Amino acid sequence: MLSEEEIERYKRQIRIDKIGAEGQDKIKNSSVLIVGAGGLGSPILLYLTGIGVGKIGIVDNDILSLSNLTRQILYRTEDIGKKKVLIAKERLQALNPNVIIEAFPECLDATLAKNIFPSYDSIIDATDNFETRYLINRVAVEKEKPLFIGAVGRFTGQVMSVMPHKTSCYNCVFPEKDEETVREMSKRNEDLGVIGTIVGTIGSIVANEFIKHILNIGSHYFNKLLIIDLLNNDISAISISRDPRCRVCGNPQ
Ligand SMILES: [Zn+2]
Repeated sequence: MLSEEEIERYKRQIRIDKIGAEGQDKIKNSSVLIVGAGGLGSPILLYLTGIGVGKIGIVDNDILSLSNLTRQILYRTEDIGKKKVLIAKERLQALNPNVIIEAFPECLDATLAKNIFPSYDSIIDATDNFETRYLINRVAVEKEKPLFIGAVGRFTGQVMSVMPHKTSCYNCVFPEKDEETVREMSKRNEDLGVIGTIVGTIGSIVANEFIKHILNIGSHYFNKLLIIDLLNNDISAISISRDPRCRVCGNPQ
């Protein structure tokens, strides 16, 4: 049930016929774990907190630095040197006190992932390195948690959603290479640079995917990879499919 305050707070989205009070109640009863409170994590966290998701977990071990401020819109110059998750929790709680915010100021490893993923309905991958991306995909598939992935570099970004053992997982499309190659991929991605606007675009789409999933409305990026290039205004979604021999979600021979 929604309180009077909640009905007033959310009235503009409750008015949408596909949401209504019933949909708002579903959003209130949902939970999501967001890995990464940086460029992608900022808009995702702000929107999902504003929209009224019941419980939001945030995993991030980073300290805010000056060069983060071009795109990490949760933070201010005065926050430099502080732990991102702790500032994020404070700011999000001020935005919407109805939402339970759980902060994990830690680096995500397999043990932490296996411990905390089961406490949330879905997982959002808002990271910027491939080691963590493969780990999140592995544990989300193992724990049967719907996974929503955003990735960015320069002016381009990608979105894909995963319904474990039903639709293509990240590893089906981008099979994991050896450890050193994965590390090099992360380093190369960092060297590419990124513009704040693509991070905001991709972050909003990922947050929207989660909301539609919770409400069971609209179409989704399951078995699809969305690719957006804001430099050339090129937007396309390509079909992808499960690899029956995927080492994560298939039956490898
Ligand atoms: Zn797979």
